[in-house]
Amino acid sequence: MALTITDVKVVKTAPQGRQQLIVVKVETSDPGLYGWGCATFTQRAAAVVTAIEEFCRPYVIGMDPRRIEDIYQALITSSYWHSGPVLNNAISGIDEALWDIKGKLANMPVYDLIGGKVREGADLYAHASGDTFEAVTESAQALLGQGFRHIRCQCAVPGLSTYGSRGRDGDRIWEHAPYIRIVPRLFEHLRKHLPEETELLHDIHQRVPPINAIGLAKDLDQFKLFFLEDAFAPEDIGYFALMRQHSVTPIAMGELFVNQAEYLPLVKDRQIDFMRVHISDIGGFSAARKLAAYCEFFGVRTAWHGPGDVSPIGHMANVHLDLAVYNFGIQECTIFSDASREVFPGSPEIRDGYYWANDKPGWGMEVDEKAAAKHPWPDQPLRGGWAALRRRDGTIQRQ
Ligand SMILES: [Mg+2]
Repeated sequence: MALTITDVKVVKTAPQGRQQLIVVKVETSDPGLYGWGCATFTQRAAAVVTAIEEFCRPYVIGMDPRRIEDIYQALITSSYWHSGPVLNNAISGIDEALWDIKGKLANMPVYDLIGGKVREGADLYAHASGDTFEAVTESAQALLGQGFRHIRCQCAVPGLSTYGSRGRDGDRIWEHAPYIRIVPRLFEHLRKHLPEETELLHDIHQRVPPINAIGLAKDLDQFKLFFLEDAFAPEDIGYFALMRQHSVTPIAMGELFVNQAEYLPLVKDRQIDFMRVHISDIGGFSAARKLAAYCEFFGVRTAWHGPGDVSPIGHMANVHLDLAVYNFGIQECTIFSDASREVFPGSPEIRDGYYWANDKPGWGMEVDEKAAAKHPWPDQPLRGGWAALRRRDGTIQRQ
């Protein structure tokens, strides 16, 4: 039977606050058969919407939605230049919607389409932060009380704008030296005050000169982290070989990667332990499942990026991979607001420190478009972009 894509619609919503979520609806010639995909790139959201509406939509209308791989490859090659986050997110929105449609056609959850469950739930990590070591400890204890076993811990550095902790200072100044001094002391404190089985994580967020990040990893070895994240910017991945010679702390990397030339060498040479891409930023579910399989052959585990600037549809795509991929490592979680759950019925549930999917076809999710319209993108001067972060002398600093 002929089945064609008849329309591609973009839903823009912000039920969690400032994050500008983008989800894509692909409609078909079969009335009632449609799919949802995540295309969220909140810092350049309007550009993604344009890419979808002006380029992807006219390109795929009339195509057979069952031919996921063909459409994915065609969209990549259609622009000649490719592999950037704007176009990758646009492709992801359509790609993931096609997987949702495929699951509905097969009457199976997507995790069944790719081999079936190898585990029941996706073990999560949650975020603890605070102005002081005591506050971070309390934040972590509260999460342990909620059933989480893995906690990422970030602490404010007095006088500086610190990633992962709001701190008391509203300015946008950053210096790496005080941060490097504080972090080992934070983990010394946490190890003294948290149960020994607590798995601790930390995110450097590419804010430290590479050789200092290697020194920090070495200092943290004694605290046996579950992983240390984004020690380097993607431009500095050449330092990972040196890191391996000096530290045995497990390394997570990749939320800023957008193309395979960046991540394949690190896997092949076994220089990282957790692959942490943001799935919509590498092109969506099709790209991520291939990457997961590649990582499996080299002993690298998955840890897909999962903060609040992934839509709940994107989180569910993460979870379906988590459930079906043998080399799953850990999943970063977002605790969805009530408003978000109203817009996205069927979002992953959190219980006992795990994300749980449901067993409905496709992603098992819906988007309530009327509820979504109640949460328009907020009016922000930078349209979702981040204000500059600077050193004390005025130099621009990586965020
Ligand atoms: Mg991160």
